[in-house]
Amino acid sequence: MSQFWKPGGERPQLLDDGEGGVLFFSPSASSSSSSSGFGYGSIDKLRQRLPVYKYRTAILYLVETRATTIIVGETGSGKTTQIPQFLNEAGWADGGRVIACTQPRRLAVQAVASRVAEEMGVKLGEEVGYTIRFEDVTNTDKTVVKFLTDGVLLREMMDDPLLSKYSVIMVDEAHERSISTDILLGLLRKIQRRRPDLRLIISSATIEAKSMASFFRSSKRHQEAGATDLGPSKEPAILSVEGRGFNVEIHYVEEPVPDYVQAAVSTVLLIHDQEPAGDILVFLTGQDDIDAAVRLLTEEVQSHGKKSHGLIVLPLFSGLPRADQDLVFSPTPRGKRKVVISTNIAETSLTMEGVVYVVDSGFSKQRFYNPISDIENLVVAPISKASARQRAGRAGRVRPGKCYRLYTEEYFVKQMSSEGIPEIQRSKLVSCVIQLKALGIDNILGFKWPASPSSEAMIRALEVLYSLGVLDDDAKLTSPVGFQVAEIPLDPMISKMILASDQLGCAEEILTIAAALSIQSIWVSGRGMQKELDEAKLRFAAAEGDHVTFLNVYKGFLQSGKSSDWCRRNFVNAHAMKKVIEIRAQLKRIAQRLGIVLKSCESDMTVLRKAVTAGFFANACRLEAYGHNGMYKTVRGSQEVYIHPSSVLFRVNPKWVVYHSLVSTDRQYMQNVITIEPSWLPEAAPHFYQQRQLGPSIH
Ligand code: ADP
Ligand code: MG
Repeated sequence: MSQFWKPGGERPQLLDDGEGGVLFFSPSASSSSSSSGFGYGSIDKLRQRLPVYKYRTAILYLVETRATTIIVGETGSGKTTQIPQFLNEAGWADGGRVIACTQPRRLAVQAVASRVAEEMGVKLGEEVGYTIRFEDVTNTDKTVVKFLTDGVLLREMMDDPLLSKYSVIMVDEAHERSISTDILLGLLRKIQRRRPDLRLIISSATIEAKSMASFFRSSKRHQEAGATDLGPSKEPAILSVEGRGFNVEIHYVEEPVPDYVQAAVSTVLLIHDQEPAGDILVFLTGQDDIDAAVRLLTEEVQSHGKKSHGLIVLPLFSGLPRADQDLVFSPTPRGKRKVVISTNIAETSLTMEGVVYVVDSGFSKQRFYNPISDIENLVVAPISKASARQRAGRAGRVRPGKCYRLYTEEYFVKQMSSEGIPEIQRSKLVSCVIQLKALGIDNILGFKWPASPSSEAMIRALEVLYSLGVLDDDAKLTSPVGFQVAEIPLDPMISKMILASDQLGCAEEILTIAAALSIQSIWVSGRGMQKELDEAKLRFAAAEGDHVTFLNVYKGFLQSGKSSDWCRRNFVNAHAMKKVIEIRAQLKRIAQRLGIVLKSCESDMTVLRKAVTAGFFANACRLEAYGHNGMYKTVRGSQEVYIHPSSVLFRVNPKWVVYHSLVSTDRQYMQNVITIEPSWLPEAAPHFYQQRQLGPSIH
């Protein structure tokens, strides 16, 4: 066991809160800088100024003596960047062990890893590394501090169920309650029983710390069983790191705004015109509205309007190229003002120095799932009060700031819900169930969750997995299909499509399609130049639909020698295409490992469409009403859906299609659509589709 809290040194003072034995830390706990081994370079000085630094000894003491430590501290207090370093300095990575820190978001993983590497003065990918899906920047022999998404850590459990190489696992941003975080917490709770040497840190900006503590508290039965154990106390500790945020003045709009993008742009210009220096952080919802706002502001800047002189406009969303991310975090040049237009990634995952003004649209993109209709989509939905407070807090990092809420005070007080709903309660559970099954958790209904998913959603997931041939009659993973699907780090429907392509002899093509489907869009964003984009798409459009169109773009891109100039001319997103190539290469490796033969179907699009159907049969729709843009109904749930305007099949009205995903705005729109023959459905999933559902029109 590592020794780092120096006995004889000042023992941190613990206070009992008197309710259920949860322990809080005295906020007056002092640091023990003498034993820290820091030098006094400027980075060290910066580190020592962060609020968590004062709690260094306390944190190390708790991690040594408790199996689980819950740390709550305001965003920017240094939890993510400092705690893994404290642990490393204290020896938790000695003897080949690794300290892990998980994040729900890929971009946050990259950003904090590169920051920590910089603070430690090491090259990213050596002592400090990171892993996100399709990107592993670690070194098995050298990496001691590893940042990773919670999803990747779940994947690692498939090869190493007890996560034995990690000495401490810090589950960060736990308040976000992402689906992977919740699954991970449930599994770590089990692992702890088997590995008394493992330490957990659950950290977050705001959290129901007590309910988290009771989740990790051993039940009576287990405590008795473990009573003879040496090792850390099973009683979780709660440490609250005092914030140091400055006061933030809140402004509300007087009337609801009709268009929050426009309102955000006007507010930025107003702040720039009337307020003293300080950067602006704007919260919008996704790449499309962020791109629109960036464009509007950039036009304003380029037209040399006096109102925008000296503004630097930067977007921030996941999938943003590295160079653009770096710009966001680099210091603002003197005399300039930075405006960062972000998704809710900047709410708590990332800290930008210098932000004094926050503009909050009041919305974010959220996943919603309805188990009755079996439809999951991403919706722009109102945020919770907890999120609104976090967003406002971003303005008070360096000095008193201001937050402009683009909603009324009455709305905030009376209508906004106080907390968000955990993602697991508003998601499709197909991937989640298959992962648990692959980890040998057979009694899924008896699994202990931080928040239980609905049983309808669970049943839906079991049903789809059964139809995909992934689960057998006893709800166990089938061999080999079930295990193979679980091994591919993609949505099980995509994985099934890949496996089917092996039998159908079109794996070459399907891997390209799978790669293209796993990124947001291969096209440049169309706002403001929709017509040009539509014309460009026509050059590649295939009558079969979007999947085959991807193949045409991919071929064109390769033939151009992967030229960015070619991309620009064709409104193709060059960065996205590079990602497609990377992901495809990874999938190819996985496919080869599974023994899939990489065969091309040449020009036989029927087998290709059959392979897509084999994975996506659950998303089959039939045209119900012709029209400008015809109305479809899902075959299974009879839900009304339409082809999205971004699809090459928009206004084409084929009779039968399967879609890849749905987005909901004024209607439910199908994105990435391909034509099929209805007779393929009962072939692909006999239990799912009975002939009568498909109606007489199939013969
Ligand atoms: P927390 O996890 O508690 O929200 P972090 O550890 O992420 O806090 O950040 C602590 C501090 O480190 C921030 O206040 C900021 O000053 C600094 N910091 C973090 N990331 C970066 C970065 N990429 N560039 C510059 N400074 C950073
Ligand atoms: Mg953090």
